[in-house]
Amino acid sequence: MRARNADASGEDLLRVVISMKKSLLPLIVLSVACGGSKPAPAPTPAPPPGEPKPQEPGPVAVAPDPAPTPAPMPPRAPGDVEFLNKCRGQLESAKQQLPSILDVKDKRTVANTLEPFNELSRYLSNGGNMAGLAHEVNPDAKIRDAARTCEREISTFISELLLDKRVYDALEAVDVSKEDADTKRFVMTTLRDYKRAGVALADKQRARIKEIDDAMTELSQQHKKNIAEDTRFIDVTDPKRLDGMPADWIAAHKPDKGVIKISTDYPDYVPFVTYANDDELKKQLYIAFRSRGDAHNEEVLQKLLVLRAEKAKMLGFKDWADYQADDKMLKPGKAATAFIERVTGLAKKRAAKDYAELLAQLKKADPKATSVGDWQKAYLENQIKKEAYAVDSTEVRNYFPFEQTLAGLLAITSQIYDIQYKPVTNAEVWHPSVKVYDVMRGDAKLGRIYLDLHPRADKYKHAAQFDMITGVSGKQLPEGALICNFPDPKDGPALMDHGDVVTMFHEFGHLMHTVIGGNHHWIAQSGTAVERDFVEAPSQMFEEWGWSYETLAKFAKHYKTGEVIPKALVDKMRKANTFGRGTQTVQQMFYAAIALQFHQADPAKLDQLALVKKLQAKYTPFAYVPGTKFHTSFGHLVDYSSMYYTYMWSLVIAKDMLTPFEKTGLLDTKVTYRYRDKILAPGGSKPAADLVADYLGRKYDFKAFEKYLAE
Ligand SMILES: [Zn+2]
Repeated sequence: MRARNADASGEDLLRVVISMKKSLLPLIVLSVACGGSKPAPAPTPAPPPGEPKPQEPGPVAVAPDPAPTPAPMPPRAPGDVEFLNKCRGQLESAKQQLPSILDVKDKRTVANTLEPFNELSRYLSNGGNMAGLAHEVNPDAKIRDAARTCEREISTFISELLLDKRVYDALEAVDVSKEDADTKRFVMTTLRDYKRAGVALADKQRARIKEIDDAMTELSQQHKKNIAEDTRFIDVTDPKRLDGMPADWIAAHKPDKGVIKISTDYPDYVPFVTYANDDELKKQLYIAFRSRGDAHNEEVLQKLLVLRAEKAKMLGFKDWADYQADDKMLKPGKAATAFIERVTGLAKKRAAKDYAELLAQLKKADPKATSVGDWQKAYLENQIKKEAYAVDSTEVRNYFPFEQTLAGLLAITSQIYDIQYKPVTNAEVWHPSVKVYDVMRGDAKLGRIYLDLHPRADKYKHAAQFDMITGVSGKQLPEGALICNFPDPKDGPALMDHGDVVTMFHEFGHLMHTVIGGNHHWIAQSGTAVERDFVEAPSQMFEEWGWSYETLAKFAKHYKTGEVIPKALVDKMRKANTFGRGTQTVQQMFYAAIALQFHQADPAKLDQLALVKKLQAKYTPFAYVPGTKFHTSFGHLVDYSSMYYTYMWSLVIAKDMLTPFEKTGLLDTKVTYRYRDKILAPGGSKPAADLVADYLGRKYDFKAFEKYLAE
């Protein structure tokens, strides 16, 4: 989630889609790749999924021999077999560790028990990461299928492993009282995760848990697939109805046989609801967008909720929300409810004021208007920002051509973390447009990053960071991938909305966490393996580097004239960004409440749509729009389940972590190095609350967040 940026901001969906790619190894191997703040509203059209993509002219080939062919189906024949073999190879290597753990006859030690368990986790993590990324981005449908197959197999094995009492007993038998703090913590969290998985239950119940886990994996995949494959279109025959859209967007949407197709993919959807003057078309597209998945996903969710409730009860929790909160910073589920109410209380008055301003704006065009529709928010916010705050987001874009922006981001992270990026030309990539860099400090290689930043058919539609290799010291360096949908420089200057820029910084916050935090002995403590409700804090904090004049002036230059972005414009953008903070915050709490209450309700009695309508009325000033079923494309219900509130919780911490920079600016290496060493580098080797206290020199609090809400 993001403290919203100016452009495209009104569209709260954006803030929803912030997805976090989490691993399918939720327990032992937290190979999280976390997600973006929002989808990328790029003006470049994404070809509709399922259609062959035309050959890309002159791709920036990073690898001389790109693994997958970039374009039309049919894919390279044996690619899927090769992929499956490789992925299964990791799973097999993991399984081969089991006998060494179980067959120990002597006294159990770190060396004879914990080490092979760490190896086992490493192989599982590698296979899981490989599959998790491929099924979201590989251009070859067969490889994507193979990746899903492998992911299921790995998931099944993990589920069995976590229910294997012999392994639990082996781990528990190791005396770690004289070991270092990391080792003690590793054993403590691993045993806890085992208990959370149900290892302490009787045989029959364990078998049932296994069935539930398998079914949940299947349902989760189905849910995602139903959304990903449900791209919808509206047809426009009169080009005049595109009035308001930026020229480059219109140029990229030429009529075909007299029909202009506008899709529900973000590069179409976001600019359209933000800029198009035609209210009726915006509403049509909004309804299409918020109906995705409606043919099947209520049923899928229903089944999933039933299974989750059953599992939580078997493990001794009141409901799934309590079960989920149990290993987080904020617990139990009741504390999450209180947090949602606290934030809503802080934001409500401001939301009412924002709403009144939106309505006043609407009345300028339609004096009879009595309420603002949900589909009108992004457009009206943009209008207000243009008029009242004199920020024209189409003007702002001129300062953010893609290549220059990326170069600026790399230069800044280089400076503040003392790292260098070395282009890699011989890495194996899944698409020729993927750029690869080694992250260096002097001669030492810290890890590797992959940047897959532009839309294409059948690719993950949002913005997220994926772990590719979770780092283990002495064994493997960390590797992460950014998967985004920014404008593609092959189509022109590729001007980015400022929202895209902030997204890029956000995702990079995760990437730096993965790389800088990726040097640990125990894989379960590597990189972003922190509590799930802390994982967004570093990325949310890093958004500020995409907002500050101090940092923007280093790279935001007009793509035609080279003029540095004027300070007055940045000031206005920042001021405009505060507009809508109230409505956006309550909207976030609306989503958080959906996620939480879906998992607190008795699934047998839950009427999903009715609850969504009720919560919408309770939290937001915008009325439910008939025909929509927001929850059927709310992917977080699967990935984050009850814990959508964690984005806001992380934001509270993120705002607090920014406070040391108030005096020094964002480029002071005394503070950035301390942040790097106290927050990023430790990964998950300590509880997040301790990391924050180490860095701040005090316990976290709400003060900075309250100030931000009042801004
Ligand atoms: Zn994120």
